[in-house]
Amino acid sequence: MVIRSINLETVCGVTSTLPVNGRPEVAFAGKSNVGKSSLINALVNRKSYARTSATPGKTQTINFYNINGEMYLVDLPGYGYARVSEREKEQWGKMIERYLHGSKQLKAVFLLIDIRHEPSANDRLMYEWVVNQGFEPVIIATKLDKIKRSQIQKHVKMLREGLSLVPGTKVIPFSSVTKQGRDEIWEFIESECLE
Ligand code: GDP
Repeated sequence: MVIRSINLETVCGVTSTLPVNGRPEVAFAGKSNVGKSSLINALVNRKSYARTSATPGKTQTINFYNINGEMYLVDLPGYGYARVSEREKEQWGKMIERYLHGSKQLKAVFLLIDIRHEPSANDRLMYEWVVNQGFEPVIIATKLDKIKRSQIQKHVKMLREGLSLVPGTKVIPFSSVTKQGRDEIWEFIESECLE
């Protein structure tokens, strides 16, 4: 994908009306700190367009990035923040559910999981939840540069087993440091999600 323009077009809080977009959307979910902002920045070839975890006051919003006026990258709020209250977690869940249920243009959901570790209980819940909403999430195994090349297969197997992935589920190892995996993600979006 040649990125000609990016525009953070809509930011939705828990009570916001979600936009009705006329262009395809692909959404990214994952626990906080998994590397979601870094991935989005890598996809759009910018250093700090999407806010990273280090940004103070990062809020729980759904962010719609318009790419080239052609499609949207949708940044779902990260889960697993320790300091979030039960009420906030509930609101967060409802907001994401509303989006996954309601969007007419959502073509794919990417779930980001750190390649180094066994998936957490929250990761498993998120995966099951997305599957139960009728999507077949693509797994992006982040921070690929943190493990040895010889360990990749073993870790991918750990993710497949840890999440009980539906056979055939696509797993794309990715590093925002080396950008490995970036082209494969765009190829998937272009071939599966855009007309
Ligand atoms: P988010 O909370 O999911 O948006 O995560 P961020 O993109 O803010 O990343 C969290 C931390 O992990 C930051 O310190 C990033 O620099 C680091 N990080 C993200 N992706 C990678 C990666 O692919 N490799 C390495 N080594 N660090 C990464």
